[in-house]
Amino acid sequence: AHQPKVEANILLLGAENVGKSALTVRFLTRRFIGEYGSIESIYTHHDKIDGRDICFNIWDSICPQNIEELGHISDRQLQWSDGFILVYSICDRPSFEVVRRQVQHIRQAQQKLSSSAPLIIVGNKRDLQHRRAVSSEEGRLLALSADCDFFEISAAEAYHGVLMVFHELLELIREARALK
Ligand code: GDP
Repeated sequence: AHQPKVEANILLLGAENVGKSALTVRFLTRRFIGEYGSIESIYTHHDKIDGRDICFNIWDSICPQNIEELGHISDRQLQWSDGFILVYSICDRPSFEVVRRQVQHIRQAQQKLSSSAPLIIVGNKRDLQHRRAVSSEEGRLLALSADCDFFEISAAEAYHGVLMVFHELLELIREARALK
């Protein structure tokens, strides 16, 4: 029988300069370009996974710069999203704190909306080990405390890790829908 298409709205969050665009472009084109514009966009990407047609809508968001809004996610973004990817850079401690606040914000908002869209925390730039400022353990613990998945990857070095993040999130989204 023909299986209906699966649509997944994915919101990318995190501080500026952590590699959100690099991750998105890597997933869409398998390439790493190195320089990315700073425009906020929603990309649509069609894929076939396990014989099933999948449509990813990926919102590469821009982090508000003023301190009061840091970690804030709009209601529109929360309502739009089936799943979240929260990105920090392993060599940028403040970017890890931004993810911590964003995770808290989402989990609190979800309790009110009784929503359970899944979250994945990503420590990017794993290739820059010599500049590491956030240990893998800290990333894992944050993920554990908020019931999220966790990956450390390098969008610059490899396609594989990026692919894993998106596929894992899709799997979690489908599980969350099945439970409704
Ligand atoms: P965004 O502001 O979060 O969208 O970040 P960008 O995707 O624009 O990336 C910011 C900078 O980090 C760019 O110069 C990228 O080339 C660089 N970058 C992104 N991912 C990686 C990575 O995995 N390793 C390294 N070394 N640099 C990266």
